[in-house]
Amino acid sequence: MDLLFYKDAYQKSCEAVITFAQNGSIRLDQTIFYPTGGGQPGDSGWIELENGDKILITEARKGESHEDIVLHLEEGPPLPAVGVKVIVHLDWERRYGHMRIHSCLHLLCASVVGDVTGGQISAAKGRLDFNLPDTAIDKIALEDKINQLIEEDHPITMDWISDEELDNNPSMIRTMSVKPPRGSGKIRLVKIGENVDLQPCGGTHVKSTGEIGKIKIGKVENKGKQNRRINLTFAD
Ligand SMILES: [Zn+2]
Repeated sequence: MDLLFYKDAYQKSCEAVITFAQNGSIRLDQTIFYPTGGGQPGDSGWIELENGDKILITEARKGESHEDIVLHLEEGPPLPAVGVKVIVHLDWERRYGHMRIHSCLHLLCASVVGDVTGGQISAAKGRLDFNLPDTAIDKIALEDKINQLIEEDHPITMDWISDEELDNNPSMIRTMSVKPPRGSGKIRLVKIGENVDLQPCGGTHVKSTGEIGKIKIGKVENKGKQNRRINLTFAD
């Protein structure tokens, strides 16, 4: 399956051929739908059939492998047959919210000293958990720092790198805010600005930090002895 969202996270619709249809779910030969994973929810949207009928796609999920994405459909309408050509459309407003919040969580990660232990993304808010000792977090200073990085409009770029290239660049691993997984062969790196943030990530991001828009830091919660949960939302 061709994963188009890796090439262009801004593609809102595409033509595709049904390659599997069973039990309320389908597979396509290529897709713009990001599957649930890495704290980012799977995309939703709809299928447009040749006769103009629409079938809602409730969630994209990973199938049997990394490149296998299954689209789950609303119950009711008959499934289109294998081999049929359709047009699929993203719920773009929701996905764009995920892209903005997800990109902002990279800025949060880069602005807090401590290892990330978990996170969650929705279209309007997000959060990260940090493994931090019992230290106070200055919410106002953190909010100012992130909003400054947003205002500075740093480009966000993607690159693929092999395990071997990583091994040959130990300094690159040192500068990463999240350590790359080993043994997958190829790792996707997401870079913000020249040295704002660098980390392995398979999610969808905006093109530059300015697109995130102003944010505010919400509650900072204690979740266990060393765990601080930092919440953020859009400011307006
Ligand atoms: Zn990411």
